[in-house]
Amino acid sequence: MDTSLAIPVAMLTAVVPRVNRCARHGLPPVKRTSFALQSRPKLDESNVALSGNVAATTGRLAEHAKKVKVTRITDWPLCASCARTRRWWLLVAAVFLWGGLALVAGAVVARIVNGQSAALAIPMIGGILLAIASPAPFVMGSIPRIIRSRTSDDGSAVVVRDPHPQFAAEVRAAFEQGTHHPA
Ligand SMILES: [Zn+2]
Repeated sequence: MDTSLAIPVAMLTAVVPRVNRCARHGLPPVKRTSFALQSRPKLDESNVALSGNVAATTGRLAEHAKKVKVTRITDWPLCASCARTRRWWLLVAAVFLWGGLALVAGAVVARIVNGQSAALAIPMIGGILLAIASPAPFVMGSIPRIIRSRTSDDGSAVVVRDPHPQFAAEVRAAFEQGTHHPA
């Protein structure tokens, strides 16, 4: 069963600031955040990666870029747990990136000071791998991932996957207020 909740983009500014529950846990927000949400329209059925024709691939990617809609969202509620999860993933990403770079730098310095050594390949390669992997935790800590939301394919609505019932109830209440009593 699809329990996704769609909030029309036109209603966002009327609805979101009135919602006092986080989308994932249904808890009161400790902070409100603003972010940009990108739609991810499906690529044409012919797989871009498998296409041998570079010009056709480039054309299709440009076509795809035109279909991507970016929605600005402001005052989205985040509870303490959501905020903590986000901080944690961003910390892991920073440790991966800077720790990886520090390992590489350390291996380079050790090589200059102590000369060539096979053992230095371990921190060198490990550091490069850590730095390359750092976008993964960064994505895990991104707001759309934390609140499990995306825009609909045509960009007309923000879709929240598996929203907490209390969040959904507040959105519906705010939605009705917005439609029946325009401010
Ligand atoms: Zn939460």
